[in-house]
Amino acid sequence: MENDHRTHVVIFPLPLQGPINCMLSLAELILSLSQATISVTFITTDAATSRLTRHSDVGARFAKYGPRFSLQSVPDGLGPDDYLRGADQIGDVTDYLATQALDAGSRLRAMLTHGSLWGQSDRRPVTCIIADGFFWFMVDVAKELRVPLVYFDTISPGGLWTFLCVPRMVQLGELPFRGNDLDAQVTSVPGMEGYLRRRDLPSFCRTYDPNNQFILHISKEAVYYPRAQGHILNTFDDLEAPLLSHMRDLCPNLYTIGPLHSLIRAKVEPIASKNASSSSLWEEDRSCLAWLDAQPSKSVLYVSIGSLAVMTRHQLMEFWHGLVHSKSQFLWVRRPGSIIETGHDDEVPMELEEGTRERGRLVSWVPQEEVLAHQAIGGFLTHSGWNSTLESIVAGVPMICWPCFVDQQVNSRTVSEVWGVGLDMKDTCDRVTIEKMIRELMGDQRERFAAKMDNLTKLAAKAVDKGGTSYCNLDRLIDDIQFNRF
Ligand code: UDP
Repeated sequence: MENDHRTHVVIFPLPLQGPINCMLSLAELILSLSQATISVTFITTDAATSRLTRHSDVGARFAKYGPRFSLQSVPDGLGPDDYLRGADQIGDVTDYLATQALDAGSRLRAMLTHGSLWGQSDRRPVTCIIADGFFWFMVDVAKELRVPLVYFDTISPGGLWTFLCVPRMVQLGELPFRGNDLDAQVTSVPGMEGYLRRRDLPSFCRTYDPNNQFILHISKEAVYYPRAQGHILNTFDDLEAPLLSHMRDLCPNLYTIGPLHSLIRAKVEPIASKNASSSSLWEEDRSCLAWLDAQPSKSVLYVSIGSLAVMTRHQLMEFWHGLVHSKSQFLWVRRPGSIIETGHDDEVPMELEEGTRERGRLVSWVPQEEVLAHQAIGGFLTHSGWNSTLESIVAGVPMICWPCFVDQQVNSRTVSEVWGVGLDMKDTCDRVTIEKMIRELMGDQRERFAAKMDNLTKLAAKAVDKGGTSYCNLDRLIDDIQFNRF
C-alpha cells in the first residue's frame, strides 16, 4: 500500500492501563473507519510498551493496519517490572503522575519538536496530536508544529470538571480546606452544587497546603486545557447532560464518544465475538469464566480495585471478612503487588480459607469486560475507576464503591447520589459495613438498583448505536482530523 495516508496522528496517553485501553480503542477506530487515509503513531513509555507487547494481543490486533500503525516508545529508564514503581508503594498514583509520567511527556515534547522520534526513512509529518490533558505543555508543542491538538482526558468528566474548577475553588477560598469537616458542601463547582462534599473531591484536594505540587500542576492544566482545538470525553450525552453543558461553555468542540469499549464493538467488531481484544498489561486468567459458568444467575459479586489502587493488609482482612460473612459468591481480583504492608501477621483464619473455598475464587487479573458481561455476575465491588464504572454500566451491574484516588471519589458519589445505581463506601473499610452493603446490593435492595441501572444501560446502548450521539460524534472527529476542520 502506497503512502496515501497523509494524515498522521500522534497519540500519547498517560502510561497507565485505563488511558492506554481507551487510546488504543480510539486508534483502532480511527484506523478502521478512515479507509486508509490516516496513519497513527501510538506512543507510550518503555515500561508500558514492554508490558503491552508481553501480555496483550496488541501486535496481532493492529497487524492488519500494516505501516499505518506504529507503536513507539519514550525512554523512562524503567524495566517492565519497575512499572509504576512508587505508585504501588505509597498507594497514591499522583506522585507517579507528577514525576515519571510527566518526565516521559517532557521527553516526548523534545523528540517531537526536534524530529528525533522517527528514523529518516519513516518520517511523515505529524498532522494532529491527541494527548492526555495532563500534558498541559502539548498546547505549546502543537503550536510549534502548527498542528491541531485534541485533548483526550480518559478520567470521568465529573472528575475532570472538578480539576478544571480547581483555580476557581482556590480563588473562592474552598481550597485548600480550612477546618476538618469533610462533609462540608462544596459550592464552587458549577453543576455539582447540592451533592458534592469535600470528601467527594479528587484525592489530591485533601490538602491544607497552598503549595501542594499536584494542585499547582492541575491549576496549570486547567488553564491550558481549554486551549486545545478539540476535547474528547469517554462518556455519552444522556449520562451527564447538565455537567456537559457546563463543560461545553469552556470547551465548545467537545466529542463525547463513550462508552468507548462499547462503541468499538458497534463500529469495528460487530461480529458476535465474545472475546474482547486485549490491551492488558497483566496476564489474564481466563479460567475464572468456566467457574462463573457453573454459578447461578446474578449470584456472584465481582471484586476488583483496578490496575493502580492498593490496599493494606488490614484493609484486605476487612474486605475478606466482609465478603465471607455476606454469604455471597465472589470472584476477587488480587493484582500482583496490590497488597501492601504485608509481612507481619500473614496468617489467614481458617474460617476465611473455608468460606473462600466454598463460595469464592481468587484470581490475579481477569478479562474484566467479559467477566462483567457474564450472566452470573450480580454486583461489582469496585474502586470506581472510570473505565470500570462505564464497563459496569454497559453490563448492567450495580456497584459498591470503594474509591481510592484521582477522580474515583467523584465517581462514587455520582454512582450513589446522582444515578442511584450503587452504594458509596468512601473513607470506610470495615467488615461490618462491607458485609451490610453486599447484602443490600445482592439481596434486599437488588431490584431498586437494577431498575435504575437498566435505564442507564439502555441509554449507553442507544448512544453507540447507529445514529446515536457517540456514534455520530466519532464520525465527526474522524472527519475533522482527516480534513483538518479544527
Ligand atoms: N481490568 C482488567 N482486568 C482486571 C482488572 C481491571 O482488564 O482484572 C481493566 C478494566 O477492564 C479497566 C481497567 O483495567 O478497563 C481499569 O481502568 P479503571 O479506569 O477502571 O481504573 P484504573 O486501573 O485506571 O485505576
